[in-house]
Amino acid sequence: MKIRIIGAGPAGLYFASLMKRKNPDHDIVVYERGYRDATWGFGVVFSDRALDFLKADDEEMFELLRPEMEAWKDLTIAVNDQKFPISGNGFTSCGRLEMLTVLYDHVEKLGVEIKFETEITSLDQVGEADLIVAANGAFSWVRDENQDKFKTSINWRPNRFIWYGTSKAFDTLTLTFRETDKGVFCAHHYRYTPNMSTFLVEVEEDTWNRAGFEDMSPEDTIRYCEEVFANDLDGHPILSNNSYWRQFPEIWNDQWHFDNVVLIGDALRTAHFSIGSGTRLGMEDAIALARGLSEKNNDVQAGLQRFRELREPPMRKIFDAANVSLRWYEEMDDLMKKMEPIEFCYSYMTRTGRVDHAEVRRRDPKLAEAYEKLHPEVLASSE
Ligand SMILES: Cc1cc2nc3c(=O)[nH]c(=O)nc-3n(C[C@H](O)[C@H](O)[C@H](O)COP(=O)(O)OP(=O)(O)OC[C@H]3O[C@@H](n4cnc5c(N)ncnc54)[C@H](O)[C@@H]3O)c2cc1C
Repeated sequence: MKIRIIGAGPAGLYFASLMKRKNPDHDIVVYERGYRDATWGFGVVFSDRALDFLKADDEEMFELLRPEMEAWKDLTIAVNDQKFPISGNGFTSCGRLEMLTVLYDHVEKLGVEIKFETEITSLDQVGEADLIVAANGAFSWVRDENQDKFKTSINWRPNRFIWYGTSKAFDTLTLTFRETDKGVFCAHHYRYTPNMSTFLVEVEEDTWNRAGFEDMSPEDTIRYCEEVFANDLDGHPILSNNSYWRQFPEIWNDQWHFDNVVLIGDALRTAHFSIGSGTRLGMEDAIALARGLSEKNNDVQAGLQRFRELREPPMRKIFDAANVSLRWYEEMDDLMKKMEPIEFCYSYMTRTGRVDHAEVRRRDPKLAEAYEKLHPEVLASSE
């Protein structure tokens, strides 16, 4: 097959790797507008469950990525200066650039050509192909220019977030919530190399307006965030990498392909970073697309149909959970005001509805016990 892939993110690269492994004769080119060693952001985090899929499906890739990974068993929720370690939530993280570099080297060894610094602006530019895969991220023009065909819906969420890094190496994945006179600031932070951490700051829209971020320079924005999180950063600086305030687009498409053009990864659907699953979902799309094609002997139309049948049910569950999770952050100011810190931690743990009291008990008996003291009624309902 002649396969052209737009976008060398995790979804596009992983699809290239799977197809080439199935059949070395496939002619596969990946187009990437960025430089080989340039990427946005710092580290990405996977929940334990998020990595299980890779271990089960592709042990070789799992082993290639493993040396790049930092792993820890617990997470910490910090409510101002009070820290609550929560056990039973395993996480793994790695630098986005490190992960992509492993994937670049791997697919090139398999014989896939990656054309860096090549921006694709029209489908004609990739020439004749059996299959064109649009894996060009949340802001995919392939999707936007064909919204009527893909039946796209984009729901811009009101919270603002900015993806920073810091040289402070945190011990666990931590969510720090700090009350300020402008509102609550939340930092999602975790180590992804022995001496670097991601430090993503999120605020509600009103907080963002009250703090005056719209008119603030990038340097002053960093200084502002460093002051808010001074007790957490221990004198380490916040580092920028093209970091700017954004809103999260909740994206869904009712059609996944037209003709021989298919969407995968963030171009197909987004999943809020708070559930640590965007990269995993993109790679799982790749697995399902490769499987769908293979089951239909590379008949493109039948394969694309099968891709959707295989992929939609499990993906929909995570998409829905991610959307519930992001709405929890949109209420964090109110939740902090009306809840005791223990209730707040419990609310965080159970926010997507996928973790019930029995599961909290299994993961962290101490948290469950502390919550039962405040809410004995949960005992009756969980018996
Ligand atoms: C702030 C933030 C934090 C996140 N944190 C996490 C996390 O902790 N864990 C996690 O798993 N996920 C996280 N994600 C999500 C994760 O980054 C994405 O879900 C994942 O990268 C999607 O992979 P993808 O391959 O679909 O797209 P992308 O990774 O976005 O890759 C798309 C590629 O296409 C290229 N491209 C775009 N347009 C063109 C064009 N016209 N021509 C050529 N190339 C093009 C881009 O340069 C890019 O390299 C986060 C996302 C954000 C925004």
